[in-house]
Amino acid sequence: MKKVLLYIETAYAQDAIHLMEVARQLYKDAITQTYALVLNGDTSCVLGICDVVLNLVDDALHPFDQKGIGDVVTELYNRYHFDAILFLATPMGRCIAPAVAMSLGTGLVADVTRIAHGSEGLELIRPAYSGKIMAGIRITGDGPIMMSVRSGIFTYTPTHVVESTRITLEGLSYRYASITVTDRKEKKVPYDIRDSEVLISGGAGVHAMQDLEELATLLKGKVSASRAVVDQGKVSRAMQVGQSGKTVSPTLYIALGIHGAIQHVVGLKDVSYIISVNTNRNAPICSISDIVVEGDALTFVQGLVKRIKKGQQLCM
Ligand SMILES: Cc1cc2nc3c(=O)[nH]c(=O)nc-3n(C[C@H](O)[C@H](O)[C@H](O)COP(=O)(O)OP(=O)(O)OC[C@H]3O[C@@H](n4cnc5c(N)ncnc54)[C@H](O)[C@@H]3O)c2cc1C
Repeated sequence: MKKVLLYIETAYAQDAIHLMEVARQLYKDAITQTYALVLNGDTSCVLGICDVVLNLVDDALHPFDQKGIGDVVTELYNRYHFDAILFLATPMGRCIAPAVAMSLGTGLVADVTRIAHGSEGLELIRPAYSGKIMAGIRITGDGPIMMSVRSGIFTYTPTHVVESTRITLEGLSYRYASITVTDRKEKKVPYDIRDSEVLISGGAGVHAMQDLEELATLLKGKVSASRAVVDQGKVSRAMQVGQSGKTVSPTLYIALGIHGAIQHVVGLKDVSYIISVNTNRNAPICSISDIVVEGDALTFVQGLVKRIKKGQQLCM
């Protein structure tokens, strides 16, 4: 029997459930026992889904306590000997997973987007060079398979209700971090990008996403983004257009500093008009655009804002 630990980060619990699909694909021909680790959180999201729900309640263990959480996962490995340990590739998942891999002396594959079982064994696929190529990493050795998984790629649909065993964790030894989080500001999005007729969309070529707001307001539109910007933590995932984001059909889509990777472009459905601004006139987005502006995205935005305001003044 294969044992798989899923780290359920409270803030991303609904996304983390889909790690179940990763576990299923990893060991599709074996009986698998799934363990969900929930720290100071509501376990209801995994009850009935995972076989074992490990709950650690300790208010002093903060959700950003990378060292402490890493210690907990390592201790749990020593207790249960998992075959695989899965994290979601959230900012915290990306911090904790390498620390655990180091202490277990095993490898880690980050940002996994696909699992392949080839003639030479298991291969974990992940994007490399900003998604320009896909790298396949072959798994060898005896250590637990460790990975962080990109959210929005794997989808798990429960087929039956599992009778989960609940275990309240006690007697673990772990360190507390010396960092205290005193304030936290959520990047909440008060709109749905799918409802907007005009989208001003920023990519990695835009350094300050807030500079797009004024243009969006003037054109009665909203700001959206490519995954590169979302992954940098600059905007909320709710604003992402594309395969693992949202499919949008605005009348006007202004793509600023967006390369036009296939995973982005598939999110553009029945868009009436695309304007792209890019320093590289050969970027793939240009070939599907009605108007291509070769140049700096923010210079274009500032110029357009100026012109619209001038036009408004003339009309008054
Ligand atoms: C399974 C999977 C799912 C994915 N899902 C999505 C998804 O849903 N949505 C998504 O967007 N991506 C998705 N991706 C990622 C995708 O492959 C690309 O990595 C991503 O779209 C790149 O974003 P970008 O175009 O903003 O950045 P980059 O590829 O880095 O391109 C930046 C562009 O900006 C231009 N540029 C640079 N400086 C300037 C400037 N000053 N002014 C103007 N232009 C400039 C560059 O010439 C370049 O064309 C997914 C990838 C995988 C593997």
